[in-house]
Amino acid sequence: MQKKTVRDLTDAEIRGRRALVRVDFNVPIENNMVGDDTRIRAAIPTIAYLRERGACVVLMSHLGRPKGKPEPKYTLLPVAQRLEKLLESPVQFVETTVADEAEKASHALKPGEVLLLENTRFEEGEEPNDERFARHLAQLGDLFVNDAFGAAHRAHGSTEGVAHHLKPAVAGLLLEKELEYLGGALNSPKRPFVAILGGSKISGKIDVIEALLPKVDRLLIGGAMANTFFRAMGIETGTSLVEPDRIDMAKSLLERAGDKLILPEDVMVAPSVEAAQSARTVSVKEIPADQSVLDIGPATIRRFAREISDAKTVLWNGPMGVFESPPLDKGTRGIAVALAKATDGGATTIVGGGDSAAAVAEAGLEDRMSHVSTGGGASLEFLEGKKLPGVEALDDRKDDA
Ligand code: ADP
Ligand code: MG
Repeated sequence: MQKKTVRDLTDAEIRGRRALVRVDFNVPIENNMVGDDTRIRAAIPTIAYLRERGACVVLMSHLGRPKGKPEPKYTLLPVAQRLEKLLESPVQFVETTVADEAEKASHALKPGEVLLLENTRFEEGEEPNDERFARHLAQLGDLFVNDAFGAAHRAHGSTEGVAHHLKPAVAGLLLEKELEYLGGALNSPKRPFVAILGGSKISGKIDVIEALLPKVDRLLIGGAMANTFFRAMGIETGTSLVEPDRIDMAKSLLERAGDKLILPEDVMVAPSVEAAQSARTVSVKEIPADQSVLDIGPATIRRFAREISDAKTVLWNGPMGVFESPPLDKGTRGIAVALAKATDGGATTIVGGGDSAAAVAEAGLEDRMSHVSTGGGASLEFLEGKKLPGVEALDDRKDDA
């Protein structure tokens, strides 16, 4: 790891100091309550690490997409309440991000106490990464910790700007774990390295395919993404979701990939998602003109599972079918089970992407993956080989050398 983390700080650098921590508490809110709290739980190791060493913890996050001014439905108050339960200790909350009240509250903290600030996107300086706003944020701590992997691809005031004005600026434990797993797969994977890509659109993931192709031993493609490849091969796809303007690109990828790239041999078809119950298996050569491909078929699940069981590193992004509508979840579940078994067999298994992570959680297999990424967009950008501004702005290890 090239960037400094909280573990590089000495106890003296932490004890009694105000740690301003950017977390990703962008969670679903239903009836003023937190729905899925995965992201809150994911931030707890860093919060606990700092508290145990006597830091005064000041947390900040965005939630939803308020446009630079307060919007009650995006308040972080419900998050403070859930965090209190998870930590089993009080969490103070101030209804502001940068006003005097926030600074006062930060100074009033005793070692081990926790304060959560209001939604950073209630401030107009946050998204444009305004320097004055970043300087204001920097007043709220004596050191900066970025643990918000899910927001690290955004150069905002609380993710990037503040790191220039508040030193030391280091990674939290979650951010470190994300970079270790995703970076490890990209830079030094144990082989065979197998990637599985799916989801709805090839267009959003074309750069990921391009970046992964030279690194992987096998690239398995399912989901609606496969349809565009079928068309590139001259295969009839009926009423399936296809991106006609990407067919040429798919052709070029097929030519370059050779036998690295594996497409489904059979698929589940139905007249529509609403008619999911009537889905049946057909060979890809027999997709009816009036039906849509909505999942991979059983022979493909077995083939993909075989590739996965032979792998030492597996990276998965994107569901294999319309998993929200059973029985069209069979392909996605089959892949999730294959990954879980591969983990048991000693492989490193990594899941990225919001919908894929949700599918794994739904199957109850979260704990059987080596790592489930908390960042959808951020993990995609990282896999594309892009630098994440929220990470780049942190202190380098070699600064100290
Ligand atoms: P992730 O969030 O894991 O990156 P995406 O957002 O790219 O995944 O894609 C998820 C969506 O893709 C799901 O809503 C799923 O229903 C859809 N999908 C997968 N396969 C198909 C298909 N064959 N036809 C239509 N939609 C599909
Ligand atoms: Mg998605």
